[in-house]
Amino acid sequence: MMKRPRCSVEKVRVSSGSATVLGLIEGFLNAKPTTAYLLTYLEGKCTANCRFCSQAKDSEGRADMLSRVSWPVFQTEDVVSKLAVAAQKKRIMRVCIQALNYPRVVEDLCAIVGALKSHGVGVPVSISCQPLKREELEKLAETGVERIGIPLDAASKDVFNQVKGSFADGPYDWDAQRFALLEAVKIFGGSHVSTHLMVGLGETEKEMVQAIQWCVDNHIYPALFAFTPIPGTALEQQSSPTLNCYRRIQLARYLIVKGQTRFEKLQFNEYGCLIDFGVHDETLSRAILSGQPFQTSGCPECNRPYYNEKPSGPLYNFPFQPAPEKIKEIKKQLNQTTSRRF
Ligand code: SF4
Repeated sequence: MMKRPRCSVEKVRVSSGSATVLGLIEGFLNAKPTTAYLLTYLEGKCTANCRFCSQAKDSEGRADMLSRVSWPVFQTEDVVSKLAVAAQKKRIMRVCIQALNYPRVVEDLCAIVGALKSHGVGVPVSISCQPLKREELEKLAETGVERIGIPLDAASKDVFNQVKGSFADGPYDWDAQRFALLEAVKIFGGSHVSTHLMVGLGETEKEMVQAIQWCVDNHIYPALFAFTPIPGTALEQQSSPTLNCYRRIQLARYLIVKGQTRFEKLQFNEYGCLIDFGVHDETLSRAILSGQPFQTSGCPECNRPYYNEKPSGPLYNFPFQPAPEKIKEIKKQLNQTTSRRF
């Protein structure tokens, strides 16, 4: 039998939940991830400086953390072998590789994706990375990456500059980030590009919903996150968004993605808070009762259990279908905040 070449990327980080599903570590999981989450390994920090991220160059946060999840390091070969088995047994349905920003990142991503292929890991691969040049995006597509995510994180230019751009001493630019997303759509196709949007960075609800509409209008799939303060980061003292604000945004995102409403139909109060979703009561009620708006949003099969919250709750994103009693709680949260009754 021909010997498989070893992956040139020696080490990779794996989210602790994914590592448990793969059998790399032992542990108990309240909810199993349906996607295996990997993170590129780097001695030292990311060259970017996102103020919410413990991987940022100026952060004093733990190097093994991203959001509130820990990411232990493993040999790439061991991880890929375990992934092949887990994919075959349908324990995982997708692999997501999150990438730090550093000079060799595209080569490393291609090497990891190549190793997945050569080990027969037969599930689609998503990559979440910095804005890349057109030829780099093409290289990733040729290597077999199915979906690409370029995180906007912030909903407006002002907030973007504050948390990721010039004010944060970061390399990113709002217009360039949005241009890179549009370029990615041309290369990967309309239904294969996502972005991450983080609620609670200082934007208004109106700005967040406007950003969601921009994404949908440009064939970019918006995945919603709740800001989570992480010790050692520049934003460690900032609060997470309130649950009722997050629920409103989740509901609006769901209705916009489904084409049931548009930003122009929504109404906001003088503080930019959503007060009307621009749909009939029946449509709204059906959406809420389905529970779907409140489940994790993102690539297919991405449920990111407890990425933003403790398993004991409260849950911003449900990694599974919320139970009827949870829907009742969600209705109460929504009722606390708008003039409508659900
Ligand atoms: S939505 Fe999920 S699978 Fe897709 S890039 Fe983001 S974290 Fe990865």
